[in-house]
Amino acid sequence: MASITLKNIVKKYGDGYPAVNDVSIDIDDGEFVILVGPSGCGKSTLLRMIVGLEDITDGELLIGGERVNEKAPRDRNLAMVFQNYALYPHLTVFENIAFPMRLAKGQFSEDEVKEKVNQAAKLLELTEHLERKPGNLSGGQRQRVAMGRAIVRDANAFLFDEPLSNLDAKLRGQMRAEISRLQRSLNTTSVYVTHDQTEAMTLGDRVAVLKKGVLQQIASPRELYEQP
Ligand code: ADP
Ligand code: ADP
Repeated sequence: MASITLKNIVKKYGDGYPAVNDVSIDIDDGEFVILVGPSGCGKSTLLRMIVGLEDITDGELLIGGERVNEKAPRDRNLAMVFQNYALYPHLTVFENIAFPMRLAKGQFSEDEVKEKVNQAAKLLELTEHLERKPGNLSGGQRQRVAMGRAIVRDANAFLFDEPLSNLDAKLRGQMRAEISRLQRSLNTTSVYVTHDQTEAMTLGDRVAVLKKGVLQQIASPRELYEQP
């Protein structure tokens, strides 16, 4: 995993008011940062600039201390954890997690593949499910398979774009607890976008509050909670 540094990041679409306006955030290696704010405040735009799907109008983005403004998404080695998980239904959990290593043809021996997949599965508590297909898994298990895939390819960070927004309240609560537990055991650099206050206050090491493209404050949930 790696640190992510945003230095005075600006995004302008056309000549309107900036969607993201002079945002600076230092995300430490292993830190879990939540971007929160109302619809339209610039959360998705910021995430898409980090991933590389959107050009940065001004400012600098560093991953692991290296400038990546001009780098293509695949060269940034970030893992998006999608709402719909994007797993292969016909492959087992093992093969879904192994997929990035299979793609890197010849780079990994079969023993290495097994070792890495088993290691990730252990971390994510998926060991008993390795021979199952994604269709038979719970939402939380599927999300963990997607994370396993990112772990075996040594992704620099996880990016979450409102991963719980389409779930009903009960499932959302379960998934929130699950992500919170994983966050503590994995130590992965993560950027997590949500408009949900409860998620923001329960999940992150730090919460960055955006309003109309401007960073209002960034602090631990505790500091935010205790302030008047
Ligand atoms: P959020 O994710 O917080 O809902 P967005 O990043 O989607 O906010 O949007 C921030 C602002 O940028 C909004 O005013 C939105 O209308 C505008 N915006 C987002 N995407 C585009 C786009 N592709 N073209 C023009 N304006 C956009
Ligand atoms: P919302 O606005 O509800 O958060 P979107 O449908 O705008 O969701 O999806 C978020 C963004 O993720 C979109 O701009 C989409 O283009 C982008 N996206 C698409 N493919 C990828 C990908 N492979 N990796 C990362 N982001 C992607």
